[in-house]
Amino acid sequence: MSTLQEHLDAFDALRDDSAASYRWQATHRGGDHAFHVVVSCLVHGNEVGSLPGINRVLTALRSGELSYGGTFTVVIANPEAGLADRRFLEQDLNRMFGNLDGDAHECRRAAELAPILATAEVYLDLHQTILATEEPFTIFPWHADCWKWARVLNAASACVTRPANQGFALGGQICADEYVRDLGKPGFTLELSQKGFSQEAEDLAFKAVCNLLAAADRIARGTTTLDDEAGQCPELVFWQTDHRESFVDPAMCLRDGLVNFTPVQAGEVLSAPGTPVFTAPLTGRLLFPKYPERDASGAAIAPIPSEISRVITQVPEHPETAWV
Ligand SMILES: [Zn+2]
Repeated sequence: MSTLQEHLDAFDALRDDSAASYRWQATHRGGDHAFHVVVSCLVHGNEVGSLPGINRVLTALRSGELSYGGTFTVVIANPEAGLADRRFLEQDLNRMFGNLDGDAHECRRAAELAPILATAEVYLDLHQTILATEEPFTIFPWHADCWKWARVLNAASACVTRPANQGFALGGQICADEYVRDLGKPGFTLELSQKGFSQEAEDLAFKAVCNLLAAADRIARGTTTLDDEAGQCPELVFWQTDHRESFVDPAMCLRDGLVNFTPVQAGEVLSAPGTPVFTAPLTGRLLFPKYPERDASGAAIAPIPSEISRVITQVPEHPETAWV
């Protein structure tokens, strides 16, 4: 399998955009309409799996195998962290879009990316999970247009959502997709698979972006509407966080083998033998289980995450009617 450097070199050869404001930006201009689709990858540097799929999209656009009449921009957001095999170098880039004046590498990068994101009609941010996931999923606070575009991708049936007024990060820490939503445009995240290169991640990224471009083209040409496009794709299955298990004691430890979307039953023990006992308070799936590094005594090493895992459950009613 190729290395990240080889995929970055391939991107460089495809980007053909000397006028770009940002070093790791590729822009396709179809010339027929102004609808601007923006896709990002490597916002978390070591979530590299989408890049080969992105290069396939750019190759297909160049050869004419794929067409798009509007403007399509791809950015590789944090290749420096990717090459260091890290999530970020100084600060989490996906929290820096409210901090565009800072000096950290990721603050400066957010300031470079923000003007590009600000011109998106729709924005898709391609991520991967730290641990494995039983299935890919989209994630965004409830937003009707994000729901419709997430359906249009036809790449993940699971959607992790929450009522629109519940923030994800702390105050002032703005995610890339949140930055776009705050400007009144749909922006959302697709979690493809566990971080790293895989055929699964490449194929899913390629499929999602191809479907996004095809639908955006038809909508911009006026031959269809977003409602019609979404209605032709399968409905999503909506999940919401029902329980957050706080990481109150460094000795807390999940039992082995838990990943994203692992089914759990109410009362099931989630802790490892010989560590403080905690159970799933309700039946659902696990999300973002964490296995931090530990010292010789078994205590998690700082910085300890605020949560050791979440339990998500299916939203009982369609969010479009329940939350609006
Ligand atoms: Zn990520």
